[in-house]
Formats: sequence, structure tokens, C-alpha cells
Amino acid sequence: MTERRILVIYTGGTFGMLKDHRGVLVPQRDIERRIIRKLPQLHDNEYWTKNLAETEKQKYLVIPDGKDTNLRILYKIIETEEIKDSSDFTNEDWIMMAREIKKYYHDYDGFVVLHGTDTTAYGASVLSFMLESVGKTVVLTGAQVPIFQPRSDGNNNLLCAILIAATQHIPEVTVFFGAKLFRGTRVKKVSNTRIYAFDSPNYPPLLESKTTLDIDPKMLIHPAGSVPDDCVLHDQLSKKVYLLKVTPTITPEIIRAMFQGMEGVVLETYGNGNIPIKRKEIYKEIEQAVKNNVLIVNVTQCVNGIVHGKPLYETGLLLIECGVIPAYDMTSEAAQAKLSYVLSKPGLTYAERVELMKTNIRGELHNPHL
Ligand code: ASP
Repeated sequence: MTERRILVIYTGGTFGMLKDHRGVLVPQRDIERRIIRKLPQLHDNEYWTKNLAETEKQKYLVIPDGKDTNLRILYKIIETEEIKDSSDFTNEDWIMMAREIKKYYHDYDGFVVLHGTDTTAYGASVLSFMLESVGKTVVLTGAQVPIFQPRSDGNNNLLCAILIAATQHIPEVTVFFGAKLFRGTRVKKVSNTRIYAFDSPNYPPLLESKTTLDIDPKMLIHPAGSVPDDCVLHDQLSKKVYLLKVTPTITPEIIRAMFQGMEGVVLETYGNGNIPIKRKEIYKEIEQAVKNNVLIVNVTQCVNGIVHGKPLYETGLLLIECGVIPAYDMTSEAAQAKLSYVLSKPGLTYAERVELMKTNIRGELHNPHL
């Protein structure tokens, strides 16, 4: 049997949480020994005892032979230095995860990151941009119900993520959750209660788990075999990036305060990319920020839809005229991640950064005017 080795990087999240004395969920260490080794769907202990226990492979766990693949899938779980609720993640955490993938790139056939769901959409997006080229499958997953509980969805999520990483060649960053695999730059958390916590409202899932787990090659960004088996990492991200949502109570003072010290801002606007225009001072603040070389990207507040380069309404015209960048169909998470990435690339002019923001580089946007 051909062997495949997968690295699972456990970073925290509900997947590995238990309630503490206050009755709130907190992340736990050592989940491999405490629970995963004991779950027959996630570890074939009999095979391990017979074949691996006395060998240099003893640190691996074994996916039970599902009779539907000719592969023997071994995986190793490593834990990040600090296990966190993903609400505590900053760009530094994702830089560290990307470095781990780079460090172990040649030792494994694929990578799974166990990640809290709250910031999975941000994490998958920044990892997609930082990993400028990756020749192996990278899957983020997690759980809505901890793996310590009998009803946990973590069991199936982790199993499918490992199977996909081992059997499918998808050279990009993805998210598996519930029954679907999503492109990392397209995914959004849409529910904090449903087992199907994620969706990618502007793009179809890359794969749906059926009786088999196969990717339709048409869904890949890069045709099979076209990506070198290497990991090219840009491990920098600007922190001077934030998001401002336009709501009816917005004032020029709010905009000015928020833009202070920022290099990039995602402006979440109404509908097709619209803002209030009767109060001219609102627009004037935004125009001034563009003049100060802040990269501003116009993302719709709608869950599904697009901000075009050619506005439909008068209320969207001024933004385009003063140089605010239309996000097209990017999510605000992907737009924010892309700003962090684009602003950290050295040696680019403002105009080149604007151009990069409008260009599809990791499957994050479709510009229908091209
Ligand atoms: N608060 C948790 C986290 O993001 C939620 C989850 O994992 O589902 O770490």
C-alpha cells in the first residue's frame, strides 16, 4: 500500500475545548493523547500496535482502512506553542502557521490546520495570500461541537480534511466544514449554531462530500501538475489595515478617527457599493484618505453580490471617481487579508498596489469587466 503522510497543526478552537469552572469553553492541550487516539474513526490502534508502535513511525496516527482508497494514511498532530480561541488570533499567529507549513513542507504530502471557526475566514484568506505558491493541499477545519462530546462534528471534519489532503491534489488553501470544501479566499462563517457553519456565497464549493470525496478538476485554480512541488512563502503582513462599515449614523469624525494611522481600509458599503452623498462631508473624508495614500477597498455589505468598477447608482459614483477600489465579489475577510498582504509587499508604488487589489491572484475575485 502506498503511504501518505499528513501533518495536522492544532491551533485551538472549539474542536479541542472543554468547559472550565466558570462554565465557559476553553481550549485544551494534548488532544491526541486525551481523545483522538481513542476514536476508532480517527485512529486504527490495532494496525498501529502491530505495525508502527515499535518503529520510527510510532508518533503517527493511522486513518482506518476505508476500503475506498489504496493509500495508507498516516498523520501526525503538532500543537502550536499557545493553543487559542481563534478570536485571539492576530496576523502574527497566521504568519507562524504559514512558517510551520513551509518548515515541514517536504516531510508531508498535505497539511490540515485545526482552527477555531470564529476567524477561519480571515485565517484561510491570509494563508492563501502568504502562501504565494504551494504544491500540496492545505485544509483548514474545526468544529462547532468539541471533539470531547459524543455529538461532535469535529470527528467527521477532521477525518474528511485528512482524507482530502491525502488523496486530492488541490494546491491551494481550502476550508472543509460540514460536507463541503471551500476556497480559502471565498469562505465566510455564516452560522454559530449550525453544523454547516461556512459558506462561500459568491463561489461554488470546490468539493462536496458524497459517497466519495473527489474534486472536479475544473474547480482548481491551477490545473493539476502545473504548480511546482514547492512552498513559496511571503511571511509579512501589514497590521495597519481595518474595516469600516457604513451605517446611517456614520459621521466624518468616525471616519477620520478610524482612518488615522491606517495603510488600508475595507469600506463595507450598502448594496452595490453605495454611501450617503447628501452629507458631502462623509465623502470628503474618504476622498482625503485616498489623497493621503490609504488603500480603500469598497466591499458590499450584502452576503452575496458584487461592487462593480462601473457604479449603478449616483451614491456609488463618487467613491470610484476619487480612487476607492471596487472589491468586485471579494468577501470583506478576503479584502482585508489581501490589503495586509499587498501593503507588505516591498517596492510597489501606490498605483501598483491598487492594480494588484483589482487583480485576481488567489481565486478571490472575479472582475466581470475583463
Ligand atoms: N470561539 C471559537 C474559536 O474560534 C469558536 C469555534 O472554534 O467554533 O476558537
